[in-house]
Amino acid sequence: MSLPKQKLPLVIITGASSGIGLAAAKLFAARGHPLLLLARRLEIMEALHLPHTLCKAVDVTDRKSLLEAVRQAESLYGAADVIINNAGIMLLGDITRQHPDEWDRMLEVNVKGLLNGIHAVAGSMVKRQHGTIINISSVAGRKTFANHVAYTATKFAVHGLSENLREEMAPHDVRVVTIAPGAVETELLSHTSDESIKAGYDDWKTNMGAPVLSPEDVARAILYAYEQPQGVCIREIVLAATRQQA
Ligand code: NDP
Repeated sequence: MSLPKQKLPLVIITGASSGIGLAAAKLFAARGHPLLLLARRLEIMEALHLPHTLCKAVDVTDRKSLLEAVRQAESLYGAADVIINNAGIMLLGDITRQHPDEWDRMLEVNVKGLLNGIHAVAGSMVKRQHGTIINISSVAGRKTFANHVAYTATKFAVHGLSENLREEMAPHDVRVVTIAPGAVETELLSHTSDESIKAGYDDWKTNMGAPVLSPEDVARAILYAYEQPQGVCIREIVLAATRQQA
């Protein structure tokens, strides 16, 4: 980007209070972008003290609050040039025993929450014939894993809707990018309620014999895709630790 830093456009990141979203917030802030950071834990985002940043306690399943936050940020910093739809939860479970409430929560956040993010910016991007929508999926959006049935359903949905959206945005010069990480060292696993599945997942990571990805590794991939010239759309990035076989 050759524009002076103060002229860089607004970047929206959902799920910016932890892991990949938090790392992306720091990286885009270091590039000089104004930011809108969204997650439920406001205090963590505010404690980052990033410049030109509006932090809002927003649950992405609450469409009205999400839209209000986007309009407020756009009134401060101008139209959003990119949204990184990153907020997500992973509640692994044995499908014969997992409570269906857990499927509901994942579908609400990972799919409907992500659609809410798209809804907040897509119309304006089409009008301006400019913009980028980056959706965070997973390797579990391309292939299956044990105890991942409902999570995999949400991430295959992210891959599917993103490709469909990309086709529909392409004639309007709006880019749609899917980022699909393998295992990343974040809080994601901690919300799984089945302790034996959590322990098994930790063993799987340990047995790789090398660290899994860091949130910063994924943030760099996001920035790479975004910083291509607007005429270049990196449709998908699949990245995982070199040692991750699955
Ligand atoms: P973390 O648990 O560290 O971060 C998840 C973020 O999402 C938090 O900021 C959390 O904030 C936010 N979030 C969760 N629910 C909501 C909600 N209802 N509304 C708003 N924000 C919400 O996990 P990661 O950084 O690992 O996950 C980020 C994305 O990356 C997810 O979509 C995940 O599926 C994906 N991913 C992660 C992988 C991994 O191994 N870690 C691998 C592949 C994909 P708060 O709780 O404050 O609301």
